[in-house]
Amino acid sequence: MKRSFVFIFFFVLIFSCKENTNIKNDNNQIIENALSFKLGDSLIIFKIYSSGTGNIIYFNLHDDENTAVEAAENILNKITGKLIEIKASGERLISFNIDTSVYKFDPNRIFTPAGRKATLERYSKYTQQADSVVEKFALYITDTLLQNAGIIVALHNNTADNYSILSYAQGGKYASDAAQVHINPQLDPDNFFYVTQDDFYEKISKKGYNVLLQDNSKVTDDGSLSVYCGTKGIKYINIEAQKGHTQQQKAMILAIQDIISTKTVD
Ligand SMILES: [Zn+2]
Repeated sequence: MKRSFVFIFFFVLIFSCKENTNIKNDNNQIIENALSFKLGDSLIIFKIYSSGTGNIIYFNLHDDENTAVEAAENILNKITGKLIEIKASGERLISFNIDTSVYKFDPNRIFTPAGRKATLERYSKYTQQADSVVEKFALYITDTLLQNAGIIVALHNNTADNYSILSYAQGGKYASDAAQVHINPQLDPDNFFYVTQDDFYEKISKKGYNVLLQDNSKVTDDGSLSVYCGTKGIKYINIEAQKGHTQQQKAMILAIQDIISTKTVD
């Protein structure tokens, strides 16, 4: 415990030292920052890169999905807006203690009460006290970190096994969550976009990518950021790519930059 405290202390120190580091790039100047949130006895760090004046926020919420971060970091000089990367334990799930109890949850299942209850129960146990801690964390993300986002672009990675655009096609496990699905059979089904608004669905499918439009009225309330954004009418795009598909994910990020910069999407 003591050792991890010392480690966290130095970790914070390193990030504090890096605050407002300016990296000169070809196109945009990139400003690097870090913010932290105390969750029970755990400290969660958010690394923030700001590039240009755009209000797009690229957001990496699962700490083990490094391809997504690598892809975005690689093209920071070509994107405008912010990239926010979570730094927790390096794993998908986040854990924290209250007194002697350990709680664990999936950070992309905490944005609704039903989602928080289900994820705490699935990975540890649900108590009102734990729920209130996790709710504050969720509110910090939506109302502070993402407060000024014109468009939220979530960056996720999957594995080759089960989850893909095909999960949303007819007969797929999540088919009822999708209002529309566009599949390009020439592309890897693990690389796809997930959007909450039909204007983005149209633009992305016209570019020939795999994409699905969430059915905002029927989608299962699993507490994910897409469900939250769908309910609130917030523009949300998830760029989902298979682990290791860095080049493909870079191209997908640039495709979104291109769509947004043409200003044909309101
Ligand atoms: Zn993820």
